[in-house]
Amino acid sequence: MSIVLNGKAIADELTESVALEINVIKKTNVRFSPGLAAVLVGGDAASKVYVRNKKRSAISVGMEALDYYLPESITQNELEDYVVKLSEDASVDGILVQLPLPGHIDQEKVIDSINPAKDVDGLHPYNVGLLVKGQPRFVPATPAGVQHILVKSGIEVSGKHVVICGRSEIVGKPLGLLMQRNKGANATVTICHSKTKNIQDITSQADILIAAVGQQNFIKAGMVKQGAVVIDVGTNRINDSSRKSGYRLVGDVDFENVKNVSSAITPVPGGVGPMTIAMLLKNTLESAKRKLNL
Ligand code: NAP
Repeated sequence: MSIVLNGKAIADELTESVALEINVIKKTNVRFSPGLAAVLVGGDAASKVYVRNKKRSAISVGMEALDYYLPESITQNELEDYVVKLSEDASVDGILVQLPLPGHIDQEKVIDSINPAKDVDGLHPYNVGLLVKGQPRFVPATPAGVQHILVKSGIEVSGKHVVICGRSEIVGKPLGLLMQRNKGANATVTICHSKTKNIQDITSQADILIAAVGQQNFIKAGMVKQGAVVIDVGTNRINDSSRKSGYRLVGDVDFENVKNVSSAITPVPGGVGPMTIAMLLKNTLESAKRKLNL
C-alpha cells in the first residue's frame, strides 16, 4: 500500500513559515509590506475561485493583496497597459495574471509586459531563461510545489528516472528543468506529451511519475512500475450532484487502483494544489525582500 503524501500539511507548514518571516521582518522594518496583485480577465468560474483563494491566503500571511477583475471585452493594449501600471507600482511585489486569457488576447505579449522582477508565476521569458540556465529566480509555483513535496517527504530524486506527462509552459516544461538541475535534484528526466508513442512503455519505467495532463484517470495502474512514486498535478472538475457546488475535483491518476502499485502518491484534492498557493506566497515574499535588499 502507498503512503499518501499530505500536500495540504506540507503547504500549511510552508505558509506558516512565510507568515512568520513576514511578521518578524515587519517588526524591524516599517517599509516592509509585501504586495500581491492578481489580474483576472472575464468571468471564468474556476479562475475566480483560484484568484479568491490566492488573495485570501496572501492576506492570511500578512501581505497586501489586491485583485483586479477586468471585463472579457478588454483589448490587448488596455490589458498590457494595466499590467505595465502594476509593474511600475512600488507597492506591488508580485503580479499574477490568471490564465487562460480570453481567445482574442495574445497571452505571451501580456506575460512579456510583466516586470520580470515581479513575475512571481515565473512565466516571463527572462525568468524562464534563468531557469533554463539553472539559476532560477522565480520558479513557477506548481513545479516548485511538486519539488517541495518530494523534498519534505524524504523522497530521493538524484539519479532517479522522473517521467512527466505534460509539457505545458506552466507545469511540465519548468518541472522537467527543475528535476534535472544539478542543484538539489539531479534526476534523469523524460517528458511525454500528446504525440508520445507507446506512453505506457515509458511511464512504466518511471521511478517518479508525474501527471500533468488534465484528463481524469489518465494514469492507470498498468502504467505504473511497482513501488514508483506518483505525483498527480491534474485538477479536473467533474459533475457531482451530491455536492453543493455541483462538482468535485479529481486528478489525472486513477488513485484507487494506482495506490495499490505505487509506494507513495499524492491525492487530489489535498496534494499538489495547496502547494501551488504556498509557493506563490513564498515567491512574493522573496520578491519583497529583494526589493529592500533583505
Ligand atoms: P495543458 O496546458 O493543457 O497541458 C497538458 C499537457 O498534457 C500538454 O503538454 C499535452 O500535450 C499533454 N497531453 C494531452 N493529452 C495527452 C495524452 N493523451 N498523452 C500524453 N500527454 C498528453 O495543461 P496544464 O496547464 O499543464 O495543466 C495540466 C493539469 O494540471 C490540469 O488538470 C490542470 O488543471 C492542472 N494544474 C494544476 C495545478 C495545481 O495547482 N494543482 C496548477 C496548474 C495546472 P501537447 O503539448 O502535445 O498538447
